[in-house]
Amino acid sequence: MRDQLVLGMMMVGLFLGGCSAPDQQRTVEPYEAQIDSLLKLMTIDEKIGQLNLPGAGDISTGLASNTGIVPKIKAGQVGGLFNISGVEKIRATQQIAVEESRLKIPLIFGMDVIHGYKTVFPIPLGLSCVWDMELIEQSTRIAAQEATADGISWTFSPMVDICRDPRWGRISEGVGEDPYLASLMARAMVQGYQGDDLSSYNTMMACVKHFALYGAIEAGRDYNTVDMSRVRMYNEYFPPYQAAVDAGVGSVMASFNEIDGIPATGNRWMMTEVLREQWGFGGFSVTDYTGINEMIDHGMGDLQTVSALALKAGIDMDMVGEGFLSTLKKSLEEGIITEAQIDAACRRILRAKFELGLFEDPYRYCDVQRSETEIYTAEKRKVAREIAAQSLVLLKNEDNVLPLKKGGTIALIGPLASNKENMTGTWSVAADFSKSISLLEGMKTVAGANTDILYAKGANVYEDAELEARVSIFGKPTYRDDRSAEALINEALAIAQKSNVIVALLGESAEMSGESSSRSDISIPESQQHLLRALLKTGKPVVLVLQSGRPLTIKWESESVPAILSTWFAGSEGGLAIADVLFGEVNPSGKLSTTFPQNIGQVPIYYNHKNTGRPLAEGQWFQKFRSNYLDVSNEPLYPFGFGLSYSTFEFGEMTLSSQELKGPEVLRVSVPVTNGSEVDGKEVVQLYIRDLVGSITRPIQELKGFQKVLIPAGETVMVTFEVTTEDLKFYNSDLDFTWETGEFEIMTGPNSSEVQRQKINWTN
Ligand code: BGC
Repeated sequence: MRDQLVLGMMMVGLFLGGCSAPDQQRTVEPYEAQIDSLLKLMTIDEKIGQLNLPGAGDISTGLASNTGIVPKIKAGQVGGLFNISGVEKIRATQQIAVEESRLKIPLIFGMDVIHGYKTVFPIPLGLSCVWDMELIEQSTRIAAQEATADGISWTFSPMVDICRDPRWGRISEGVGEDPYLASLMARAMVQGYQGDDLSSYNTMMACVKHFALYGAIEAGRDYNTVDMSRVRMYNEYFPPYQAAVDAGVGSVMASFNEIDGIPATGNRWMMTEVLREQWGFGGFSVTDYTGINEMIDHGMGDLQTVSALALKAGIDMDMVGEGFLSTLKKSLEEGIITEAQIDAACRRILRAKFELGLFEDPYRYCDVQRSETEIYTAEKRKVAREIAAQSLVLLKNEDNVLPLKKGGTIALIGPLASNKENMTGTWSVAADFSKSISLLEGMKTVAGANTDILYAKGANVYEDAELEARVSIFGKPTYRDDRSAEALINEALAIAQKSNVIVALLGESAEMSGESSSRSDISIPESQQHLLRALLKTGKPVVLVLQSGRPLTIKWESESVPAILSTWFAGSEGGLAIADVLFGEVNPSGKLSTTFPQNIGQVPIYYNHKNTGRPLAEGQWFQKFRSNYLDVSNEPLYPFGFGLSYSTFEFGEMTLSSQELKGPEVLRVSVPVTNGSEVDGKEVVQLYIRDLVGSITRPIQELKGFQKVLIPAGETVMVTFEVTTEDLKFYNSDLDFTWETGEFEIMTGPNSSEVQRQKINWTN
């Protein structure tokens, strides 16, 4: 038997080195013979063991060899581990698997590498405001280079849950409200992580999540229920997941929520019919953290029942809960599941390990030298700084308060303005916070020695200490100040009086968004608003630098503060990037990927909504018996696609190549854009389409194209889009993806609200 094993492993080795194309139809055959021979050697327990993904537990803090997980690895009861980092720890753990388990099958090491590894990029919501897919791909390429240099070959990213409800804390992890933009983001992120060859030492397997619809949870309350029509799923929520599958994503994570009354983890329609049969997904699926066990509380049965349900639904790997490990054998013996079902799941996980090259070299991602030389390098940090600067969205700039002049005295005020830990935002598990650049440091560096930058906290993040403690229960320290609110404000006013301009960094701490951080009130906390009012009363110009993991309700601020720059959580280089924009070293070019509501009552509010049977007349904000509110207009505070620049752009008249089109013809839409200012700047020119009459109701506008163009000062650039019937397609009530002849409106503009329109007619 021993010889047989060695032979089996040699055969495995012989066939390695193949590569995978970045396409879902990537060939799986090269490894099938090896997987077949391996499966023949495996006991049922070993097969089930491959489906088990425990957390790293005490390996994170201790030595691999002394930890509780080791006997399981030796017994072949572990397929992979997640959230341990460091080449040495990972190598030691891998060594146990490949030297001390019977079949020597390597482990896969995963991690939440969500927006960078040690070099941290802006939170995904911020990245989605960059509107430049080459930069997005570059960000995940760098993340993969760093993570793989540290032993990790699998990331739980991209997260592409469309979200229209900023109460949900996880909106920060996603890429906005729009299916088109989010699909491009999904593709670029997968390509960046996986590259052209998954087995290369510096690419890693991506995992698109959370499949599906997690962003549509009721009331924005985390882990809550989802209920949605199929037409909406297919047209509005599915596209980015499908785009990741089309880009060849290696794995998919099931979401916590239910779909049609069945949790995603146990939902065969979602995990098999849609994912594999309709979209042709060929990778493996994993639950979210204890997703199987949570089906007990969802009311789907006991652990054995829900584990069998998950396997039968098409789940391959069980994260943390060990429902598979503890019950699948019994279910097999009782005839509830089949060995073929276990084999299918095991095969997919083994295939992923082959594709990553782990059978060929289990230590492929454990190169100590790489970990010392390729992580957090000056070059990578420079890219992060550039990308971060492009993720910032200038919401208001009255009287050109920005850019700030260097020289003189600037008061920098805000509870987190000198804080490093919070700059990286949610999900920055590998970051070394002591190295992140705070805004204070960034401003000092960029402004240079001739500028005096005075700093005061001015307030605590929240006045309520208990609430602040709840927010940061596992979180990044906010260094709460025990002085009274009045004392903090007075200190801030004292430095404000000495300054030419006030920069106030206000908003949220890192842990106020992200998982399990829903808020029912998404305004700037009262303590900070109070501070802002006091600062405005000084009569000095005030720049509000907003830090947040979600759109906030800042109506009063938008009416009262002359300049507002939304900075999300800009990453490890965030302080420098924000300073670059504040001092005009970089001209802001970010555009919102999510609508800012005027107040919480407008939520969910999103640009691509339906017209309804009683729309409000153009330019009106209230009409009786129309679809509106008594106390607030239907307009957002800042619309999707919005963002200002230090340049001023003028859109000239849009021209269409034709207004009558037939079948396969191509419509050319051109619009001249002039930079009438004295500074070069980038504008994101946006194309929207409205299908005026359909067999189902259609959104009032849908993004169908954009171009981010650099327009030198004083020059005009002609931007041209090509539209084909592919851009007109949607899922009809039979869920056929098709287009319908008739009238369409073509729109171009600098954001979703300020558009010029023309009608066309497209026939067969
Ligand atoms: C989150 C996932 C994450 C996983 C592993 C879960 O709680 O929902 O997004 O990938 O934990 O850390």
